Amino acid sequence: TLVAAARGAGVGEADATPSGRTEPWPNDPYPAGSGVAERYATLRALLSGSLNADDVVAVLSESGLRGMGGAGFPTGKKWELVRAAEPGSIKYAVCNADESEPGTFKDRQIMADQPHLVLEGLLLGMAVVGAEQGWVFIRHEYGPEEQVLRAEITALREAGVIGADACGSGRRLELDVFVSPGGYILGEETALLECMEGHRGEPRNKPPFPGNYGLHGRPTLMNSVETFADVPVILQRGAQWWADQGEGQSVGWKFFAVSGHVENPGVYCVPMGTTVRSLIDLAGGVRGGAALAAVQPGGASSNFIGPDDLDLPLDFGPLAEAGTMLGSGALVVIAEGTDLLAAATNVLRFFRNESCGKCVPCRVGSTKAHELLRGVLASGSSSLDEAQRGRVLRLEEAMRKTSICGLGQVALGPVVSVLGLEKGGAAAREQPKPDGAAEQPAR
Ligand code: NAD
Ligand code: SF4
Repeated sequence: TLVAAARGAGVGEADATPSGRTEPWPNDPYPAGSGVAERYATLRALLSGSLNADDVVAVLSESGLRGMGGAGFPTGKKWELVRAAEPGSIKYAVCNADESEPGTFKDRQIMADQPHLVLEGLLLGMAVVGAEQGWVFIRHEYGPEEQVLRAEITALREAGVIGADACGSGRRLELDVFVSPGGYILGEETALLECMEGHRGEPRNKPPFPGNYGLHGRPTLMNSVETFADVPVILQRGAQWWADQGEGQSVGWKFFAVSGHVENPGVYCVPMGTTVRSLIDLAGGVRGGAALAAVQPGGASSNFIGPDDLDLPLDFGPLAEAGTMLGSGALVVIAEGTDLLAAATNVLRFFRNESCGKCVPCRVGSTKAHELLRGVLASGSSSLDEAQRGRVLRLEEAMRKTSICGLGQVALGPVVSVLGLEKGGAAAREQPKPDGAAEQPAR
C-alpha cells in the first residue's frame, strides 16, 4: 500500500540511517546496512567495462527520468548532450544540493539517508560524460548532511573507489563538497557556477546552458540531489522496474517534503502520480480535521490550487496542465481560515528579498507589487479592487516575460493564482503560465 511504500515497509530490517531512520526507503537497491564494499556496484561495472556509457544513457532515456530539481528536463538527454560536448576536453560535474525553496527539504533527507546513492549517481555522471572532478554544492545550513557526505567521500577514497586510479580502472575520479556562501539565488544553476568561479552569484543568460558552457566555460553536468540518487537505482533495477513503480502513466518513486497545516509534516517517498489527496492523507490529513483552503504542490514558486484539485496526480504533466507545477517536490498545505492573499504576499516578500537585483523587471517589479499588496493587507482588506488587480496582472506579465531567470519569472505567480482562486477554484487554471511551463516549468 501507499503507506507501506512511504515508510519502506517490506524492505527488511535495517540499521539506523545517518538521520536516525530505522527503515530503509523503498527505492534503495542496496541491502540495508551495507557499506562501500557492497555498494557502488554500478560504478564498478561501468569502470570495469562490463557496462558501457552509451547503455547508461539509453537506460536513463528509456526510464523517463526527469530532473527533480524542479524543471523536469529529461536526464538521459542532458547526459547525452554533455557527453557529446567537446569530446576529450576538460569537463566537470556538479550536484546541486543548494535546496532553498521555502517548503522544500527532501534533498536534505536524501543526503542524510542515502549519501551512497547521491555520490554513486554523481560518479556515474562523471564517468559517462568524461569528467574527472565533481562537487556537491551544498546549502550552508546543511551542516550535518555536509558531514555525512564528507565521511562517505573519505570512505570512498580509502576504499580506492575514487582517486587517481578509481576502482583500479586507471581513470581519475575526484569528489569534493563546496559549501554555498548562502543566498537562495545560488541554487539557480548559472548563479551557482558564477559563485564557484569566485564571482558575485548572479544568473547568466541562458543559452548557453551549463551542459555546453558551465564551470570555467567547460561542459558541466549538473543535476539535483534526487536526480543523481535516482540514477543508480534505475541502472540496478532497470528502466521497466522504474516505470512500474509509478501510478498510472507516471514513472518511478518521488520524494516529497510535506509541510504547513498537516498533522505529520515530513519527507515521504511515494510513487510518482500519487494524488495530492493521498499524500495529504499520508501526512495525517489537514491539521485538527480542518477543511483545506489551498495547496502549493511544488514549493513557494508554484501556483496555489484549490480543494477541487485534490485528485490531481503529482507529476509534471498533470500539474502543469492544471496551471501549477511539480517544482521542487514540496507540498505546502493551507487550512481554511488562512488569509490566502496574505500567504501569497509572504511568498512574494521572500522573492523580493532574494532577488539578486541584476535585472530591472524582477528588482523593481517585485518591490512595487509587494508594496501594493502590503498596503492592501495593512488596510484590513484581503482582496483587490479592479485597478489593483490590473496592476498586479500587468506587473506579473512584465516580470514573467522579461526577467532573466526563474525567480523573477515566477515571483508573482502564486499571488495571481490566489486572485484566480478568489474567483472560484478552477479559475486558477486560467492564469498565465511561465513560457513553456507545460514541458519545463521555469525556475
Ligand atoms: P530550466 O528549464 O532553465 O532548465 C532545466 C535544466 O535543463 C537545466 O539544468 C538546464 O541547463 C537544462 N536545459 C534546459 N534546456 C536545455 C537545452 N536546450 N540544452 C541543454 N540543457 C538544457 O529551469 P531552471 O531555471 O534551471 O530550474 C527551474 C526549476 O527550479 C523550477 O521548476 C523550480 O521548481 C526549481 N527550483 C527549485 C528549488 C529548490 O530549492 N530545489 C528552488 C527554486 C526553484
Ligand atoms: Fe536576479 Fe531576479 Fe533577474 Fe533572476 S530575475 S537575475 S533573481 S534580478
